[in-house]
Amino acid sequence: MVVAFLTGCDRSEKASDADSASHKKEPYQVLCTVGMITDIVRNIVGDYAQVEGIIGEGVDPHLYQPTRSDVVKLSTADVVFYNGLLLEGKMTNVLMRVAKSGKPVKAVTEAILENSDYLLQKEEDSKHIDPHVWMDVRGWMQAVPLVAETLSIFDPLRADIYTANATAYTKKLEALDAYAQQSIGSIPESQRVLVTAHDAFNYLGRATGLTVRGIQGVSTESEAGVRDLEDLVNYIVEKKIPAVFVETSVADKNVRALVEGANARGHGVRIGGALFSDAMGQAGTYEGTYIGMIDSNITTITRALGGEAPELGMQGKLTGVVH
Ligand SMILES: [Zn+2]
Repeated sequence: MVVAFLTGCDRSEKASDADSASHKKEPYQVLCTVGMITDIVRNIVGDYAQVEGIIGEGVDPHLYQPTRSDVVKLSTADVVFYNGLLLEGKMTNVLMRVAKSGKPVKAVTEAILENSDYLLQKEEDSKHIDPHVWMDVRGWMQAVPLVAETLSIFDPLRADIYTANATAYTKKLEALDAYAQQSIGSIPESQRVLVTAHDAFNYLGRATGLTVRGIQGVSTESEAGVRDLEDLVNYIVEKKIPAVFVETSVADKNVRALVEGANARGHGVRIGGALFSDAMGQAGTYEGTYIGMIDSNITTITRALGGEAPELGMQGKLTGVVH
């Protein structure tokens, strides 16, 4: 400390607490795959690092192919966070290669893996685990201390700041979880069924008591068959489900086919809105944050299925911009 103080920069720079003593370059660079992770990191690191996400709004991570410039960014970043559990299917090899360089490359679901009872398996393929953990706020919360810890090891002088920020962010997530439980709980029991384009909502379903049915499987790489569609149409008609949902990062043609199929059988089901499944909303909007994304989903689902939730969501901030 004293040495850095004496040999370091001039007084005005050094006045900003412990800055610059531990790093060659400031701010350091953190690279994340999906926006939900970028958002955790931003909340914890503040302005001390430049945080960038690779996979943008409305983009499907299951199908995302890393570009040349992504590979360069991955190799020059100081810290890398990704989801893991094969969410970033086509990036996994590159991430593994970058991890070998010795810098921190962390799967945020690693913390959740330790709690093996928590994770759900893919229905169609029991060898693989369902990666959509962020859909259950309680599950995603487990990634927050892991991010804080990884950043604290990289930048130990600011460990206290990162820990405090993580605690503050977790409090906000607890409020979000309470809103989700209360809202979904207000849907009449017989209507607590969520039909969507792909199976991204199983963790939300388990956390809130919603029965979840996706047309495509846990990854959008598999095509939906005609048989799957017919089965779901039967299900919707039998259960008199009032609304089904499209997703912002998945094509809506299968969901529209469902609606037409049910309508042709005399049951008027409608599209209840667009949900954020594997990508957040537009950068700079409320829906472009993790809390906004989940608030939007919960509010949309609750209102379309006959439950009670404020039109503008948990904090009156929903903009309704979903693309
Ligand atoms: Zn998905």
